[in-house]
Amino acid sequence: MNIILFGPPGAGKGTQANLIIKEFNLVQISSGDLLRDEILKKTNLGKKIEVIINSGDLVSDHIVNELLEEKISDKRNQNRLIFDGYPRNLSQIKFLKQLLIKYNQKIPIIISLHVDKKIIEKRIKGRIYCTKCKKIFNKYLNPPNKMKLECKGKYLEKRLDDNIDTIVKRYDTYVQLTKPVIEYYKKNSTFHYIDGNKKIDEISNEIRGILLNLTD
Ligand code: AMP
Repeated sequence: MNIILFGPPGAGKGTQANLIIKEFNLVQISSGDLLRDEILKKTNLGKKIEVIINSGDLVSDHIVNELLEEKISDKRNQNRLIFDGYPRNLSQIKFLKQLLIKYNQKIPIIISLHVDKKIIEKRIKGRIYCTKCKKIFNKYLNPPNKMKLECKGKYLEKRLDDNIDTIVKRYDTYVQLTKPVIEYYKKNSTFHYIDGNKKIDEISNEIRGILLNLTD
């Protein structure tokens, strides 16, 4: 089974993906994490990506697509992909379609998280994440128990694009470029709508229910 997890920035896509990957033996492909890993490498490409991400725009398709193909082409990941943050515009839908055919991957199930703007701002303001294991926490809503983390919280950071100006721009980018992607997939029979305003475990239970139904 392959899954596309949709939602505005701060909807909890990464958090939810994190919670279900083990149970369903999935591999999380977060385009944002792939790009942030490039930034951490401090390469020229990483530096260019950093400027774009911090401005709240989308990184160009050819950069993201290349990083994505590396993951989709890996045989170990066949039919166990959960996409988080991809596709984000109409041309990425096309590219993904071609890649799925090229690497003999199943048509993905679409899970779309819908969250109010006010809640998004609250979530993004408190978000911290581990640059090593990519786990996501929230200072107010889901604080990390540092002693339980393998790294004892040594790699916990706030994302540079999680500031109020960039959040506003990222949300606009989402409305302009990514909402049409949802409209496209809505016509799909595998589209599932989820109220992402609820608590983390309520949302993950709903997602679990959908996936268990499909694997029965
Ligand atoms: P995310 O971690 O999904 O919130 O993404 C953080 C930032 O990475 C976005 O605001 C974009 O600048 C960039 N990004 C992530 N995914 C994509 C994508 N599929 N296409 C273009 N840019 C992306």
